[in-house]
Amino acid sequence: MIQTIRGTRDILPEDIPLWHRIEDVAREAFRRYGFAEIRTPIIEKTELFARGVGESTDIVNKEMYTFVDRAREDRDGESITLRPENTASVVRAYLQHKMFADRSPGELTRLYYVGPMFRRERPQAGRYRQFYQIGAEVMGDSDDPAIEAEVIEMLDWFLRELGITETTLLINSVGDATLREEYLGRLRVAIEPDLSRYCADCHHRYKTNALRVFDCKNPDCRPLIAGLPTITDSLDGASREHFEQFKAHLDARGITYTVQPEMVRGLDYYTRTAFEIIGSTGLGAQNTIVGGGRYDGLAETLGGPPTKGFGFAFGLDRMVMALPETISRDLRAAGAPDIFVVCMGEAARQHAYHVVRELRRAGLVVILDFADRKMKKAMALADKSRARHALIIGENEVNEGRYALKNLTSGEQESLAVSDIIIKLQRN
Ligand code: ATP
Ligand code: MG
Repeated sequence: MIQTIRGTRDILPEDIPLWHRIEDVAREAFRRYGFAEIRTPIIEKTELFARGVGESTDIVNKEMYTFVDRAREDRDGESITLRPENTASVVRAYLQHKMFADRSPGELTRLYYVGPMFRRERPQAGRYRQFYQIGAEVMGDSDDPAIEAEVIEMLDWFLRELGITETTLLINSVGDATLREEYLGRLRVAIEPDLSRYCADCHHRYKTNALRVFDCKNPDCRPLIAGLPTITDSLDGASREHFEQFKAHLDARGITYTVQPEMVRGLDYYTRTAFEIIGSTGLGAQNTIVGGGRYDGLAETLGGPPTKGFGFAFGLDRMVMALPETISRDLRAAGAPDIFVVCMGEAARQHAYHVVRELRRAGLVVILDFADRKMKKAMALADKSRARHALIIGENEVNEGRYALKNLTSGEQESLAVSDIIIKLQRN
């Protein structure tokens, strides 16, 4: 029997109401804050991610699904990659479609996306090779920290609306590109004396991009990393001022946060503000639900004009896990049918087709049992369907135009015409 590929999974019907709820609340948040949806391809040129995400990142180094597309036989083929994230693609689209063309000073483009991403990671709870992200990007010529606070306020509303209250907002500033160069030099000097005690991955990071040692999850490296100088301690005046303003904007909105100087995020494109939202129980080790930050140089890296950008992505898989149990239960129950219709005999069934159609036209969720069964067996199926009511249609009911509606929770039963059933169940 053929099974799913390692690190991928089917999202089964019983979980779909949770996914829909998160997507619906996210779309509502985006609508209120003026974001429009964009759908970019799942495959892009490898170069987009190599340049955009950064050659020294774990994502580009070891996690991408890359292959040569030989579709064009007259050529050697082109290296293409299943997208590991979507910020680079959205910025590419922003540039490709010249969304900046008639931009007024300070005017912002707000875009959001929903879809699958692919990374060849070690699969575990909350970490998959195909996972889903919802994310948003704000692009333009302004890097006002008020934009950042507004985006975080939107996320805050979204999480509350979902009932996810036990979260922590971690913020940091990773400085700008010039500072990065200077700081990286100092960081290497600080790592060097202990280099032999770091893991093999960190050796590689030390050579390619020392900032990435902060991403290391190896427990032997953590104490060494804790002693290193952080980029936040060495911020230049302008970045420091930006960070102070960002914090003041959060304070003004009553949003609480923790400054976390070791948090540098796993993508090279971040400048200045970076943030994460950590969930609490039920998530285990994979408890980062949202990640985001500012990426002012990214558009230029991709060959576009100078553009400021700020955005985030959250993992839908992890957001589903973060939903409180009582809410998940209610969402699953809400998907149950209103009525399970049981017919006694062929004439009753012929009649039922019309009854059922009327009920559905009135918006009720109705399941019609097509098989001939004994009453007991039919009622057992009605229970199994989790329907709130069974509607029993037999010869007498057909003649009278009134049907036996049984409440499957209370056991109460009454005889009603279709119009009364509609009034009764719609009101509930
Ligand atoms: P992590 O530190 O957990 O690996 P990350 O820094 O790689 O996360 P980002 O690239 O910023 O994550 O992606 C944003 C969010 O997407 C994460 O916070 C997480 O919720 C989700 N995410 C990332 N990778 C995976 C994955 N392999 N499986 C499920 N969700 C993921
Ligand atoms: Mg990761």
